[in-house]
Parts: sequence; structure tokens; C-alpha cells
Amino acid sequence: MDRITRAVSGDKRFFAAAAVTGEALKDAAERFSFSPAVSVLFGRAMTAAAMLGVTLKSGGESIALKFEGEHEKMTVVANEKGEVKGTVSEPLWMPKEGESLGSAFGKGTLTVMRDLGLKEAYSGKIDLKSGEIADDVTEYFQKSEQTPFCCSLGVLLDTKSESLAVKSAGGFFVSAMPGCEEELLKRLDENIAVLPPVSAMLESGMDDVDILKAALHGFDLKITERATPKYRCDCSRKKVSAMLLSLGKEDREKIAEDPYTEVVCHWCNARYRFTSDEVKKLYGMK
Ligand SMILES: [Zn+2]
Repeated sequence: MDRITRAVSGDKRFFAAAAVTGEALKDAAERFSFSPAVSVLFGRAMTAAAMLGVTLKSGGESIALKFEGEHEKMTVVANEKGEVKGTVSEPLWMPKEGESLGSAFGKGTLTVMRDLGLKEAYSGKIDLKSGEIADDVTEYFQKSEQTPFCCSLGVLLDTKSESLAVKSAGGFFVSAMPGCEEELLKRLDENIAVLPPVSAMLESGMDDVDILKAALHGFDLKITERATPKYRCDCSRKKVSAMLLSLGKEDREKIAEDPYTEVVCHWCNARYRFTSDEVKKLYGMK
């Protein structure tokens, strides 16, 4: 079952989150028919965004991670409930022989945008370190937000299925509070250094809480919140109708003449179909 758990260490020196996101990733991969390579990259990015999302304070806030590279462009957005949506420029991208997954982006950038509702929005940008997502997210928080931060993400594909379907996905991050003692950071580093990869932990039956306990082994752990990550888009026929209404006269006339107009949401691949009559009615045309 998918879940995100947030925790702080008892001494309040660290805050952390861990997530199991396999079902949400399966949902995304099916919607967009991702290639196995894109399933892995998207799953990592989506998991990071969902975990960062639940650290937001209240409804209406969101965090977006935007990876822009030479071949691939990928954006994932999450809210405080751990609901995520995303868009990918090349959903079928596959690496050539000998290429790493990170070569999907090559030389590129990661922009992190926090939309805190109303007027407040912050963003920061770094050059991608490897394009492997976890390294890049870690680099962003260490460099841009100057926080001791580490993040690990994993997606496992089912090598027994011909289509290499998603088997599991998850991750964790730990962030130190300002002024955290070197001694404690060193202990945390030692914990992280001996942790198996996230995919291996999930495969061995560990869940989000087990992963948090392993990452913060030796520290008193207090669970502060739980959420269920979901792939969720807030598009609707009503919103698409409003978009059609915002078009200029020339576009309206053209659309009204087409027997069918189909609008595809690039966040969730939902298709909205309008007949010529429906469009004319919307525009108040006879
Ligand atoms: Zn949508």
C-alpha cells in the first residue's frame, strides 16, 4: 500500500520523510504508456515531490520539480496531501546501449518552485549533477537552500514481465535543522552509508516506517504525519470549457466548424471530446 510518513528525531535535529509510491507510479505509467526508463525517472521524481509536498504547511500550497535537459523535460508537482501530477516531453525515451538513465537529461537544470498560495512563490535553480534525480534533488537542497540534506529514491521494474512493468517505488529524505551538531551529522552519514538501495529495502518487505527507522537508527524517532500519495490531476470538463471560452474569435470559429474537438490534458492524459454542436452551444452560436 502506498504511504508517506513524516517524522522528526526526538532531539528535533532532523526531519525526515519516507514514501512507498508504487501504486501511484503504476497509475502514471499506465496513463502515459511510459517506457521502462521513463517509468524509473518519473517514479523517482514523483516520489521526491510527494515527500517534499507533505512538508508544506497548508492547503493551496504546492512544490514543483522541473528537470530540463537536452532530450527530456519532466515536471512533477505535489501538494501537501502527497498528491502528485506530472508531465514528460518524451514518455517513450529509452537510453541507447551504454547510456545511463541520467543521459535523458544530459546537461540540464533542475528548478524547484514552491508556490505558497496567494502571492508568495519561491524558486531556485541548479545545473543537474547526474540527471539520476536523487543526486540532483540532494544537490539542490544542499546548494540552494544550504541545508544538510540527503535523499534516496528507488524504482523497481518487474523483469519477469515483458513490458518491464513497475513493481515498486519509494524513497526517503533526511534534512538537518539549522545548527545541527557535526557529531550528529556524522552519525547520520554513517547510517545512510550502510543502507541498502531503496529498491532492495522495499523488495525485502520494508515499508516507509521501516526505512525511516533504518535511516535514523540510533535517533529517537517521532512520527508526525501520514499521507497517502496519489496520482491526481484537478482537470475537469468545466475547466476545459472555460479554456475553450478564453480563445479568440478566429480560433472559436475554426473549432465550431470541426465535427469533433478533442482536448488532452498534458498532466494526466485525460481526453475531453466536444462535438461541433456542443462547441456552438458553449459559444452561444446558432
Ligand atoms: Zn488532467
